[in-house]
Amino acid sequence: MDDRDRRKGFYIQTFGCQMNEQDSLRMADRLSREGYSHVADLRRARLVLVNTCSIREKAQQKAYSFLGRLETLKRRRPDTIVACVGCVAQQEGPRLRERFPFVDLVVGPSHVGGIAELLEEFGRTRTPRVEVSQETGAGSLDCEGVSRQGSVTAYVTIMEGCNNFCSYCVVPYVRGRERSRPYESIRREVGNLVRRGVKEVCLLGQNVNSYRCSETPQRDFPGLLEGLGSVEGLQRVRFTTSHPKDLSQSLIDCYGKLDVLCEHIHLPLQSGSDRVLSAMNRGYTLEHYLKKVDDLRKAVPEIGLSTDIIVGFPGEDERDFESTLEALEVIEFDTVFSFAYSARPGTRAALLEERISENEKRERLRYLQECEARIAARKNARMIGTCAEVLVEGTSRDGRHLMGRTRTNKIVNFEGPAGLLGRLCSVEIVKACKNSLLGRLAAGQA
Ligand code: SAM
Ligand code: SF4
Repeated sequence: MDDRDRRKGFYIQTFGCQMNEQDSLRMADRLSREGYSHVADLRRARLVLVNTCSIREKAQQKAYSFLGRLETLKRRRPDTIVACVGCVAQQEGPRLRERFPFVDLVVGPSHVGGIAELLEEFGRTRTPRVEVSQETGAGSLDCEGVSRQGSVTAYVTIMEGCNNFCSYCVVPYVRGRERSRPYESIRREVGNLVRRGVKEVCLLGQNVNSYRCSETPQRDFPGLLEGLGSVEGLQRVRFTTSHPKDLSQSLIDCYGKLDVLCEHIHLPLQSGSDRVLSAMNRGYTLEHYLKKVDDLRKAVPEIGLSTDIIVGFPGEDERDFESTLEALEVIEFDTVFSFAYSARPGTRAALLEERISENEKRERLRYLQECEARIAARKNARMIGTCAEVLVEGTSRDGRHLMGRTRTNKIVNFEGPAGLLGRLCSVEIVKACKNSLLGRLAAGQA
């Protein structure tokens, strides 16, 4: 690469959740259209974007340590532009430039769509800028459709922000209040993606159940799903995340009604103790949650269920922790994402005094993950001998098999020709592994 190429080379480092991955894809897409090109080697970049996450302290520390490493790069090549984007940028604002004075742009998540304009302005003025004003409109969510190169699955952001203020969570502060994207804009994006070969979309938002756009108030979340059901060529729709308190019967009814809707739901429980759930401000009890699971399983007995659990919330005692373990035994989730509680600045829980030691949190997390591995293995073993519809997404990690997902969101690896990429196949499950299933292509599929 010569110096002329380097002028427009950009490198993106992303930390955190799927929402951030999606924001990074959107920025990359926008920059490519402005004549920038992605470089895989950080040292060759003219522009370095660091997309940060502040959901837990660890994620924030990882971003800081990456930013710290950029100081040397910037000293060696002062014309390199460094932009810190995302939730840490939003949370820290001007303080971020006090800590890392070489950062040129500090950009909050609601300004991701305007990254090209901010860079253009910086190119003209060479004046560092902190853009962290909170947008209230949903216009910044507009997108023509972005997905990883050649991917048959894609994420589509349908809403941004959150109004729930769970006492541990920084999202409402860094991503602002809830705003939903207009239905037509979502449908257009999904249509574009399908024309480019995408077969499955996952609708993304902090609380998709409360999707409601002011321009089309009659189209709530079930209405949006119904509308997308008629996009020609779209084979599967998923969504994440749902809040248990807002999971309506009309959404549950969609599972039986819409062929395109995959039988899976991510429904964060967070804790099995009512005392802790109340301190977390989650707005439901365990009984209420169990009833929702019951309703879901009545509608679709084989529905795939995943969840998030936090261990070591301030004041969580042994009995509370036991209640969480019991809930996992009773519910039998397919997948559990578990986290040690991390105090976040500005949240109500950060003011609580009954802190659990880091050691204890680590111990509870380890124990919970062991229990969950046993439960998931037991559940996966029941699938041996059954047949499942699998959408082939690519190859397995070791490159030896094709990899796809069942409608219930289980990863299945199996042998088959590369030509099956993007196709729906019927696969017989022959073995249950730790985080995936091993399958065999049903006769007549190759
Ligand atoms: N909106 C979703 C919901 O209601 O569950 C999830 C948003 S958050 C990005 C993903 C998960 O991170 C949460 O479900 C929670 O389990 C975890 N999380 C959020 N704040 C946390 C904190 N302060 N410490 C540990 N885990 C946290
Ligand atoms: Fe955070 Fe709660 Fe909103 Fe999820 S629902 S983003 S956990 S405040």
